[in-house]
Amino acid sequence: MTTPDVCPILVNGDWQELRNIETSPVHNPSTGDVIGLTPMCSAAHVNDAVQAAAAAFSPWWETPPVERARVLFRFKMLLEENFENVARCNTREHGKTLIESRGDVRRGIEMVEFACGIPSLLSGDTVENVARGIDCETIRQPLGVCVGITPFNFPAMVPLWMYPVALACGNTFVLKPSEKVPLTATMIARLLEQAGLPRGVLNIVHGGRECVDALLKHPQVRAVSFVGSTRVARYIFETGTRHGKRVQANGSAKNFVVIMPDADIDQSTRSVTEGAFGCAGERCMASSTAVLVGSAPKDVLPSLANAARSIRVGPTDREPQPDMGPLITRQHRDRVAQLIGTGAAEGAKILADGRGLQVNGGGFFLGATVLDEVQNEMAVAREEIFGPVLNVMRADDLENAIETINCSPYGNGASIFTRSGKSAREFKHRVKAGMVGINISVPASMAWFPFAGWGDSFFGDLHMQGKEGVQFFTQQKVITTRWFAEGEGSVWSAK
Ligand code: NAD
Repeated sequence: MTTPDVCPILVNGDWQELRNIETSPVHNPSTGDVIGLTPMCSAAHVNDAVQAAAAAFSPWWETPPVERARVLFRFKMLLEENFENVARCNTREHGKTLIESRGDVRRGIEMVEFACGIPSLLSGDTVENVARGIDCETIRQPLGVCVGITPFNFPAMVPLWMYPVALACGNTFVLKPSEKVPLTATMIARLLEQAGLPRGVLNIVHGGRECVDALLKHPQVRAVSFVGSTRVARYIFETGTRHGKRVQANGSAKNFVVIMPDADIDQSTRSVTEGAFGCAGERCMASSTAVLVGSAPKDVLPSLANAARSIRVGPTDREPQPDMGPLITRQHRDRVAQLIGTGAAEGAKILADGRGLQVNGGGFFLGATVLDEVQNEMAVAREEIFGPVLNVMRADDLENAIETINCSPYGNGASIFTRSGKSAREFKHRVKAGMVGINISVPASMAWFPFAGWGDSFFGDLHMQGKEGVQFFTQQKVITTRWFAEGEGSVWSAK
């Protein structure tokens, strides 16, 4: 058997294969095979990457925004031409189905399309005659070297939430992808290089805590974008801000979907099933808890349990494609299976149990699971499961459902299924979550809107995506201008 390749780092336009370095395995979760090795970079590697980004900053900033956008237009075309290869790479290292991987890549491309509009997005405000003969204007300038640290669950999309906008604004960038899925990020970065991005503008390092700490503390890093678990997001925010960086850090989530008795039962059940089990539940916007109101359980529960049992689970790296793929690692699969057991021991009722699923080969599979009668204090309600498990809770009425949701420390997504405009209006007004769905189970906002987590799902002030993304990657300058004419008097007088 051949030894898998060590994933290269990218420093100043050179792809470097590091030798004699500690590595972490990259698996194909469909088979359990090791398909790559991620090098664990040291502070010295990080320093090289940051220095390269710092040196590339000035010429890149001086490149007119429209020219920066042209590189991104070419990048977008190359992403389209290589769409299927990128999606397949994504599936191979992550395990999601090909359809899901195509969605992952498509959402990423939309971020590139958004960033292509940078000449308009950067425009500022001007007010003439703030005082007589004096004008005032705002301009947006880049920060310098920005950093992105990304999770395993959207190998294509999440890095693209960050660097296309950062680069379009005139910054340079150092990306640290998840050590579990470095291959897709590498493939995509090669396309950006092919699109004509100058050397050093985008750099890539790999690793764990040592690498991340070096990025967070490096004096030349100006801003840090992070997406991952709340435990790490909080650490990144605290450490980064303590070292003077601007930080945006997206964290974990528990997302609730309320089904009212007047909802369209078929539509809502189908939507919640997709929301809960899509990407095997490894989504920060997964519909992880259904809150069934009043008489809704009697109609909804049988269909939810049947839908979960009929999900075909299997390897995603071949045809025919299953409905749902494996989880990211064996340890994570075992953790989720254990949590299901804890839920049952704490009194939850198992309506569909994915633990008995048998799939040949060494993949990290778990079947779709539905837990009913979940209570707030149970471990399955408190912890983010991040697997194919749907919790079901009951509520007497909408008031009670909103109270249940608002107890959660997280605040990514919350949805309601109803035919009543009044209930929907009440819900969107009072629920404590940054992204709200009405008859939509996964209200993940798209490139043009902020990905607006609240509570423990987000640390910082300016979210990723949309105009907030542009604000995060730029600093404002306000310029007040007066031109003197011969013999001109005071600004306060008419003469
Ligand atoms: P993670 O927090 O384990 O890892 C995220 C990144 O942080 C990785 O690059 C990893 O190498 C690094 N990291 C891990 N431990 C670290 C430590 N102790 N110190 C410094 N860096 C560390 O997250 P994950 O398991 O890769 O991803 C799943 C999590 O991401 C889930 O909690 C999910 O909800 C969350 N997520 C959130 C969003 C969002 O927008 N809110 C989007 C996607 C994923």
